[in-house]
Amino acid sequence: MLEQKEVQGIIFKRQKYREADLLVKIMTKDDGIITMLVKGALRPKSKLNAAVLNFSYGKYTIMTSGHGLSVLRTYKEVKQNEVLYNDLTKSAYVSFIFDLVDHAFVEYTPLNAVYDLVQQAVERINHNSDPEVVTQIVQLQLLPVFGVGPQLKQCVICGKTTGDFDFSLKYGGIICSDHFYQVTDRMRLKPKETAVLRTLGLVPINRLGNVTIKEETLKATRKAIDRIYSHTLDLNLKTKKFLDELKLFN
Ligand SMILES: [Zn+2]
Repeated sequence: MLEQKEVQGIIFKRQKYREADLLVKIMTKDDGIITMLVKGALRPKSKLNAAVLNFSYGKYTIMTSGHGLSVLRTYKEVKQNEVLYNDLTKSAYVSFIFDLVDHAFVEYTPLNAVYDLVQQAVERINHNSDPEVVTQIVQLQLLPVFGVGPQLKQCVICGKTTGDFDFSLKYGGIICSDHFYQVTDRMRLKPKETAVLRTLGLVPINRLGNVTIKEETLKATRKAIDRIYSHTLDLNLKTKKFLDELKLFN
């Protein structure tokens, strides 16, 4: 049954559809990710186009049956995000984050805590936090949502929580130095690098001050996270590929 509903959220993906229509994805907290059909958005006189630019935030009234396509009727209190819209690097990071969330959830499933995580991540990138740090946090903290959360709290073998650690894909978590000899596939991260990996995976994003992490350390954790993703999930996201390419030029 079709009902009219007002949803509130952030636009994160647009695609041309038919002659002059758009398919637009919006991330909302209570109603999850929704694909909206925006009729006539690409006609010169349409006001809808500007209301659904990427990274716009606002209230959108839709006709929906709770699955499949919903149709956008009207909107209000829409704010465009000029910073993200105009900054290629920032928007590349944010697009990747949204793409991940889009793959972690079935449409119309409430995002709950993940919505807050993503909203804060976007906010932080918007306000000049290191987008690499923020993105690594989101990636690590989304793994449990994908059903493949690694054990970062304690050694997977003995439960130890302090000391030097490394990461093992086979064991799906951290291992303490007491067991390095018996784990053949450990990543050989430096203790400092595993410590950063644990922090990024476990810290609530709102409690993270303006941390600075050495670029060398971040490169190592980036590599570790990429390995965890490719080992446990089959994603192959275009937004990730674009981000990796972009980094080569920076
Ligand atoms: Zn141990």
